[in-house]
Amino acid sequence: MNGTIFDIKEMAVHDGPGIRTTVFFKGCPLGCVWCHNPEGLSIKPQLMYKSKNCTNCGKCRIKCEHPECEPFGRCIHICPENCLSISGREISAKGLAKEIIPTAQILGDGFGGFTFSGGEPLMQSDFLLELINELKNYHLCIETCGFCDSNTFKKVIEKLDFIIMDIKLADNGLHQKYTGVGNGQILENYEILRASGKPYIIRTPLISGITDTKENLDAIQKIIDDSKWEKLPENTMAGAKYNMLGLEFPLKKTKQP
Ligand code: SF4
Ligand code: SF4
Repeated sequence: MNGTIFDIKEMAVHDGPGIRTTVFFKGCPLGCVWCHNPEGLSIKPQLMYKSKNCTNCGKCRIKCEHPECEPFGRCIHICPENCLSISGREISAKGLAKEIIPTAQILGDGFGGFTFSGGEPLMQSDFLLELINELKNYHLCIETCGFCDSNTFKKVIEKLDFIIMDIKLADNGLHQKYTGVGNGQILENYEILRASGKPYIIRTPLISGITDTKENLDAIQKIIDDSKWEKLPENTMAGAKYNMLGLEFPLKKTKQP
């Protein structure tokens, strides 16, 4: 079956053990106000436009024959300033496996593998399971927000070698406010992960005044007990891609007085 991805990153060193090739799945059920991959939120391909380089020459408005340009009413390929691109492409699980398996030659013997990230890979769980099956001879890792039904979560993690899961906010109300969903399902899936015996690490992005408070970090520590825990520094460049999608960076809005 086909899925939608928006990036493939080779030689990744922060996406699981060793050197990895990371595939970014499009679509996420959360909407964290600090999200630094806004092009991963919608499952559909999106037009990205660098307005600061645009000279208003009008060339992209001329009708073209490229099927991928049609939904956007602009020719993506003609721009002399490289202002336009499409984030997201559909690909079959077999086709994607064929594309990324050659990168395994540089991953090293047993010291790397493939990582599924996003967006949220579990949002395309059937496609993900098919891809996992195509890559079953490799070390496989997921970066997940943990938000999906428990059966799907179980089915996927039992086929993986390493799981990186976020717990962003311990308080359900604050989780709802800053990510758009409550954390009940995520915490249920965390318990499943803990009981699974799979190697895993919990991650928390440290967002100033939201997730980095003493109350939140103490409460997460209580939930995860002795689990391995990585706290990620805030990505201060996160706002730049919102402009290219014609969106406002929600964290900026949240922090306005
Ligand atoms: S072709 Fe490029 S530079 Fe010209 S109007 Fe379109 S986006 Fe702007
Ligand atoms: S879970 Fe990750 S990809 Fe989804 S909105 Fe939050 S930060 Fe963005």
